[in-house]
Amino acid sequence: MRSILVTIATLTLIGCGQKSETPPAHPLADMVLTNGNVVTVDDALPRSEAVAITGDRITAVGTAADIFPYIGDQTEVIDLEGKTAIPGFIEGHGHYTSFGGSLLILDFRYANSFAEIVSMVEAAVDETEPGEWIIGRGWHQDKWDVKEDVLIEGLPVHDSLSAVTPDNPAMLIHTSGHGVFVNQKAMTLVEMGNDTAPPEGGEIVRDETGRATGMMRESAQDVFRQAFSGHQGRRPAGIAEDEMRRMVTLAGEESLRNGITSFQDLGTSFAEVDLIKRMADEGNVPVRLWMAFEEQAADMEGRLAEYRMVGYGNNFLTVRAIGEKVLDGALGTHGGWLLEPYSDLPRTSGLNVVPIEEIEASARLAMDHDYQLAIQGIGDRAYRELLNIYEAEFARHPEKTDMRWRIEHAQVIHPDDIDRTVALNVIPAVQGIFACSDGPWVVDRLGPERTRERGYIFNTLAEAGLVPTNGTDPPVDEIDPIASFHCSVTRILPDGTEFQPQEVYSRERALYSYTMGNAIAAFEEDIKGSITPGKLADITILSQDLTTVPNDEIMNTDVIMTILGGEVRYRDGEIVN
Ligand SMILES: [Zn+2]
Repeated sequence: MRSILVTIATLTLIGCGQKSETPPAHPLADMVLTNGNVVTVDDALPRSEAVAITGDRITAVGTAADIFPYIGDQTEVIDLEGKTAIPGFIEGHGHYTSFGGSLLILDFRYANSFAEIVSMVEAAVDETEPGEWIIGRGWHQDKWDVKEDVLIEGLPVHDSLSAVTPDNPAMLIHTSGHGVFVNQKAMTLVEMGNDTAPPEGGEIVRDETGRATGMMRESAQDVFRQAFSGHQGRRPAGIAEDEMRRMVTLAGEESLRNGITSFQDLGTSFAEVDLIKRMADEGNVPVRLWMAFEEQAADMEGRLAEYRMVGYGNNFLTVRAIGEKVLDGALGTHGGWLLEPYSDLPRTSGLNVVPIEEIEASARLAMDHDYQLAIQGIGDRAYRELLNIYEAEFARHPEKTDMRWRIEHAQVIHPDDIDRTVALNVIPAVQGIFACSDGPWVVDRLGPERTRERGYIFNTLAEAGLVPTNGTDPPVDEIDPIASFHCSVTRILPDGTEFQPQEVYSRERALYSYTMGNAIAAFEEDIKGSITPGKLADITILSQDLTTVPNDEIMNTDVIMTILGGEVRYRDGEIVN
């Protein structure tokens, strides 16, 4: 705020014709964004045109004229040409290194033919050491418009694949997970020949001469998966570290492409934090990370104090949370722990996965070491059990009033628990996109009445005064804030119907949830979440204004540029290093 006032004072002086006598009242900016539609998510000045940045901080926000005096010879001036600037998106719940790992694996979901898959594998061979496995996933023969000449049970034979992979075993996982397609090298490695009998519950698909085609159904894939994980486990530490570094880089770059400048990782390990801390020292962490330990309480005892770090490495690494242990399973598989039985499977009310005592032990550790606690509670029973655990721990420490413990996913909540959540200052860490990815079957699981009352009631929670949050849980769902924003404000399902439409966020609330809301959920509202002088210069430039475009145009929004700590890190389709 101070900078804005200074700027206004300067302009007043210019108006009096005294410019030449006025010494500069502020340092010149390193970067100025101007001629934009700046949506600040800051009530003090909700919309503006220009931003001045010095070092990694925002120094002033105002009209183009306000900010003009900050421009000097050395200032990089970016003309936004009317495009929209918002605070950098914060992914509120994801799994950072598994997301990076998913990007190492070839993605065949959009492949239109087996030949296309083979050429993707061929390109990967160039970047892979001989002997290393090539893994891909997501293929489905029904998506191929071009069919191979030789087809056995609708599938090709492995010859063209094996021809491009003489030195690398390859395992291509079917989208269902119920089978893999392998090359000759992989079959040689596991000593599978023409006379190998299939394991019980599995099928080695063969041509009319008895030769294996490469397709392994059900348990016949196990020997390949074991060979792969055995190989990974035997690799020298250096190679494993190189791969982990690559995952960190890939996950960060994919985040930046999506306008995400901070990523909240639910579920890291001491070893991962050790490596990422070294990378932070080197300046090699691509986005700002907030990481929560997913370790056994017994293993965390005695280590949490030394590992607690806030804003390490120029605010690229914060470790001050324990999560995401799972108190229950997922709704889709009838695992979410409910107060009453499933409507479509009345013999079960779901599952308690990690024992209550283990969560209680983590809660004590979190309290003792001033960590946040972020445990998965999907069903309304799991949610209530977590509130009980949190409440009991808070009661032991009434002096600690601002712990911001979270319940991850919070997809089904009994109305009686909403006020309790408010009273306990607990944050239901929800993901907007899940309302649309789960929407098609939630009513089956819960029945219409229970769904209406308790299912994905994200706006009801916000109206009750709880912090709205957002995210896509990558790699569970695509890392795509625009898609989650779209679902958050429309609840439109892929088939065009609506799911719980009374629970839409307003546009402003949806943007707030992905910026300030997620910042608050990590104790970072002082440095992130809005375009405000003094905060980190993490700013995303969009092709259009998410707060005003019609619903059916939201998904056409492109990320034009991602600025992180005052540096352009992504621009027009390219990562900038
Ligand atoms: Zn998760």
